[in-house]
Amino acid sequence: MEKPEQLIVDGKRLDGRAPEELRPIKIVAGALGRADGSAYIEMGNNKVIAAVYGPREMHPRHEAQPDFAVLRCRYTMAPFSVEERKRPGPDRRSIEISKVIREALQPALFLELYPRAVIDVFIEVLQADAGTRTAGINAAAVALADAGIPMRDLVSAVAVGKVDNTIVIDLMKAEDQWGTTDMPVAMMPRKKAITLLQMDGHFTEEEFKRALDLAMRGCEQIYEAQRRALKEKYAVGGTE
Ligand code: ADP
Repeated sequence: MEKPEQLIVDGKRLDGRAPEELRPIKIVAGALGRADGSAYIEMGNNKVIAAVYGPREMHPRHEAQPDFAVLRCRYTMAPFSVEERKRPGPDRRSIEISKVIREALQPALFLELYPRAVIDVFIEVLQADAGTRTAGINAAAVALADAGIPMRDLVSAVAVGKVDNTIVIDLMKAEDQWGTTDMPVAMMPRKKAITLLQMDGHFTEEEFKRALDLAMRGCEQIYEAQRRALKEKYAVGGTE
């Protein structure tokens, strides 16, 4: 896609959204039959699957910790997830994203309950359109809950940024590519505790505050979608 002259026209974004509007979101808890917990998410054109195994015995053994479980996260992008075929396998970006996803999820878990164990989280991006790390976190949080792992709270995540001098939420690819700022945020909504905050680009202090506030409100909406997905799977007789 060529760079459009404007990314925001008459207050509307290229896909017709208002600046503070999320992309359509769809979450399915327990989308996979073989993992201990799983979730599938669509956030706009992103399609991401998360699978959780554990807590289970750590292999290799020497990586086990005597006092707590280790949380291992692996984020990968399928070769067909982006416009031009992506070379399969880990690269610098996916290793970094795996690390920040682990750090975003870890505060929600009671790892001290499972000494010597490991909890594995696999995040597979099937289709990417900017915001895959946040979509991955949203799916992984639901997958962890689906695995029956006790949690302080879910973790909800969305990026905010600046496009054509306007603060926007949930950037799609064109906005991520040609916007000036991109700030992925994750939080535990009930506690309002931020567990991930990255920033690519610049905000003034005032813009930062507005953007963070917008991200936190977006996370609340995503939280509701995550809870709905879990209720849909677990509600007895559909009474909830
Ligand atoms: P995030 O997906 O979390 O926003 P980035 O900001 O690094 O992470 O990437 C933004 C978007 O750029 C991705 O969602 C994807 O659409 C695209 N992208 C990332 N890596 C590649 C790649 N190797 N090839 C093509 N497109 C990519």
